[in-house]
Amino acid sequence: MANKEHTDTERMEAIVSLCKRKGFIFQSAEIYGGLNGCWDYGPLGADLKRNLKDYWWRKNVQERDDILGMDGSILTHQAVLTASGHVGGFSDPMVDCRVCKKRYRADTIEETPICEAKAQLPKGEDKSCELTEPKDFNLMFQTKMGASADDNDPNAVAYLRPETAQTIFVQFKNVLDSNRIKLPFGIAQIGKAFRNEITPRNFTFRSREFEQMEIEYFCRPEDGLRLTDEWLEKRLAFYDEIGLDKNKLHVLDIPDGERAHYSEKTYDIEYDFPFGQQELEGVAYRGAYDLTKHHEASGKTQEYFDEQTKEKFIPHVVEPSAGCDRTVLALICEAYDEEDLTKEGGKKDIRTVMRFKPAIAPIKVAVLPLLKNKPELVAKAKEVKNLLQPYMTVYYDETAAIGRRYRRQDEVGTPFCVAIDFETLGEEADGELKDTVTIRHRDSMEQERVKIDDLLGWLLPRIH
Ligand code: ATP
Repeated sequence: MANKEHTDTERMEAIVSLCKRKGFIFQSAEIYGGLNGCWDYGPLGADLKRNLKDYWWRKNVQERDDILGMDGSILTHQAVLTASGHVGGFSDPMVDCRVCKKRYRADTIEETPICEAKAQLPKGEDKSCELTEPKDFNLMFQTKMGASADDNDPNAVAYLRPETAQTIFVQFKNVLDSNRIKLPFGIAQIGKAFRNEITPRNFTFRSREFEQMEIEYFCRPEDGLRLTDEWLEKRLAFYDEIGLDKNKLHVLDIPDGERAHYSEKTYDIEYDFPFGQQELEGVAYRGAYDLTKHHEASGKTQEYFDEQTKEKFIPHVVEPSAGCDRTVLALICEAYDEEDLTKEGGKKDIRTVMRFKPAIAPIKVAVLPLLKNKPELVAKAKEVKNLLQPYMTVYYDETAAIGRRYRRQDEVGTPFCVAIDFETLGEEADGELKDTVTIRHRDSMEQERVKIDDLLGWLLPRIH
């Protein structure tokens, strides 16, 4: 049961603080004051993120015959992003305060903000910012390539990609020609993208460096709308499988006039974060827009030849585009729970527990010898750890009382703890429980005994 005393802001603060304390997420270059909009994943965060990416890859590439993976370069040829429209048009409207110089995204401020330089003015005086007219601010990070690159050489310009999608479009033909694959088929990619966001905020939600998990699903024009709806359902099912509450997921059918001009249908999948309902993923039917642009700009045909109908055409595409960091943040927000275990008349006892699904949890199992000063227990526990380690992330801990160690694992979301005790050694009265361990479940806190010989077989299906 969640502790309802926290408001959403307090809940978010508790989550951010746990992320730092336990090593999920740190601010980038924190010891130098931090690099705005950039984050580093600590040991647990790195495992959590990798588990999410592995699960996405397994569901969208490994378990499908019609989707192929790729891993494209981050540095991107300017011609690619000129053709796609990013060089000319990938911008957000920006306004500056003439007085305090603070910068805002014009489309996200609802009322004129309070000016930082006017904060000391007496009561009753106008303290609002004096904003400039909105101007377009291109969100792409530009760089120069090559040792001889001089500042005026336009050919030396390259960009850090603002999305993984364009790398897929410009390799469409190579993937098609190097694989015996027919429409409809997809190309999937997980990788970094960079946007010089005007106002990075809400922890990792809006970052300047982030990862995307994107699929470009190519199809015949007449199948586009149907496949868009099918992909929406698949993506919602995915979020359910990784443990996001269905009631906190919302689908927005983006109305005419608000979609990109080439898109006949776009859905946004949004999640109830503690800081509000915000986008996790976009599922967009992009028509033949991207391939046509590259077909025209490169002069290299992007057409597909249909063997059966003998037609040649540029395929249409449906794009489910998810944010990896945003999904990790949603998983953390969803998992965070404070359970009140206070006994009547007793000391306040709040159990912090991250209720990650086992497949997503950073640590799958903790191995805990009951006592550290009993060499036989420690030796047996290390044997169990070595048995499990090739198959899953195991945490070994022999410090503190067993109850404390269980709570530590609850706080980082470890679904199972394995305790090695005197029964394991066969030192109890009848020795019947020799070579068995206690498994303690994170959510119910219930315990059961399993034979060491059966342990791996017991754990594997539960963490997959
Ligand atoms: P927003 O409206 O929030 O800026 P967007 O509509 O521009 O997002 P897309 O271009 O559709 O985003 O990108 C696809 C996905 O990539 C988003 O749904 C989101 O999960 C992720 N994403 C986009 N921008 C960021 C960012 N600055 N930080 C983290 N994730 C991002």
